[in-house]
Amino acid sequence: MTRGDGQLTTELDPDQPGPRDACGVVGVWAPGEEVSKLTYFGLYALQHRGQEAAGIAVSDGSRTVVYKDLGLVAQVFDESTLAPLQGHMAIGHARYSTTGASTWDNAQPTIRSTTTGTAIALAHNGNLVNTADLLEEVDRLGVEMGENTSDTHLITALLTARPDESVTAAAERVLPQLRGAFCLVFTDENTLYAARDPQGVHPLVLGRLASGWAVASETAALDTIGAQFVREVEPGEMVAIDEYGLRSTRFANPEPKNCLFEYVYLARPDSNLAGRNVYATRVEVGRVLADEHPVEADLVIGVPESGIPAAIGYAEASGTPYGQGFTKNSYVGRTFIQPSQSLRQLGIRLKLNPLVDQIRGKRLVIVDDTIVRGNTQRALVRMLREAGAVEVHIRISAPPVKWPCFYGIDFATRAELIAGSLDVDGIRAQIGADSLGYVSQQGLVRATEQPASRLCMACFDGRYPIELPAADLIGKHLLESQSPTPQPTEASTQVREGTTA
Ligand code: SF4
Repeated sequence: MTRGDGQLTTELDPDQPGPRDACGVVGVWAPGEEVSKLTYFGLYALQHRGQEAAGIAVSDGSRTVVYKDLGLVAQVFDESTLAPLQGHMAIGHARYSTTGASTWDNAQPTIRSTTTGTAIALAHNGNLVNTADLLEEVDRLGVEMGENTSDTHLITALLTARPDESVTAAAERVLPQLRGAFCLVFTDENTLYAARDPQGVHPLVLGRLASGWAVASETAALDTIGAQFVREVEPGEMVAIDEYGLRSTRFANPEPKNCLFEYVYLARPDSNLAGRNVYATRVEVGRVLADEHPVEADLVIGVPESGIPAAIGYAEASGTPYGQGFTKNSYVGRTFIQPSQSLRQLGIRLKLNPLVDQIRGKRLVIVDDTIVRGNTQRALVRMLREAGAVEVHIRISAPPVKWPCFYGIDFATRAELIAGSLDVDGIRAQIGADSLGYVSQQGLVRATEQPASRLCMACFDGRYPIELPAADLIGKHLLESQSPTPQPTEASTQVREGTTA
């Protein structure tokens, strides 16, 4: 396999309808186990969090090897690529890019050597907001970035920048410098580390395996690999796991601001966030929606997947029957087939097809998780009317998304967000629905059973809990714009050598 293997990822839906997730991470420390396979299955369970690239780094105590490529987890790995990845611990990553383009170089885990020859492999879920400051620091220390343009590579560069510094000492120096959202898993040859930003924006959980430990972005990944949930990695905490057990250190005081959007859309329904099950939260949001936005209707339908639990809650609370209204092709989303212009016009039908007999002649309540640009809902309403629906009432299980996220979720720019410029009735008119109702922010918070003070809700109310830099010092392609002619470096060479491709 050559680098990237000629594969081009392309989003089949030209409207890029929904928010895009921001990576999943897995770490496994389990001598005697097939750690790379456990990591693979953990990543497989987190595929929804990132579909652009996947990678695994494995260490056998003397050498760390990385294998990564663009594509879905099951496209990047098979028996033959996993077989050489032998060792006692591994980390893995499923990527959606938020800083740095979707290129092979920016795929993770990253790997970089210290001056003493120790290799640090690192994977990151989240997005930093002080990337420009960190780049300055990297320049000051004289570290070359090569072709790597992600904030994650900056972290790895800083961890390896100082000669003769232990990994633990480097982590204690670097982690307090990072601002933004970061759930990290990283390794040297002997130790698995995991760290979470002081706000704990995105989830990171710790589990016990029969012969070791596992760390993952969501509890569902622990379940998948047979690990018992132990606890969350706390905001501002770093854990280190090796043959002597697990050690915990604090690199910052916790100031919890968990992402509210994880409950609505990002996390799997079978995951738990801060002890609250995501499915139960979504059903409860549906009940709140029914209370806040009742309507006379014949059938409640959820838009797969994350709209379904809220639709069940809405139906239950309103007494309106719940039914399936669509068949979803679960395998469409990212494809390696470039859609021609005529195929693009099929739009939403490539993903969802209406069950006409269920819909014809009925007044429908359609429950969806969010409206970003409005293109998907407009197409959905049109499709349902063509299928014979007499009324289409849209209910949204999140408040209007009016502000961009800088902490690892890619919605759109403020100008592209339909709720950034239109009020609810304006949006209703744009999408062609008979009525439109969003759950209130207060109602959504109540459903999570978390105190509002512990949640980030910036995409709904514009109050960013982690200070943002000036607009020109933040953005997905910040590092590409800072480095127009990147030069290959020793470190990027190591990545290729470390890759078993
Ligand atoms: S801005 Fe929204 S999506 Fe981003 S972390 Fe906060 S709640 Fe989550």
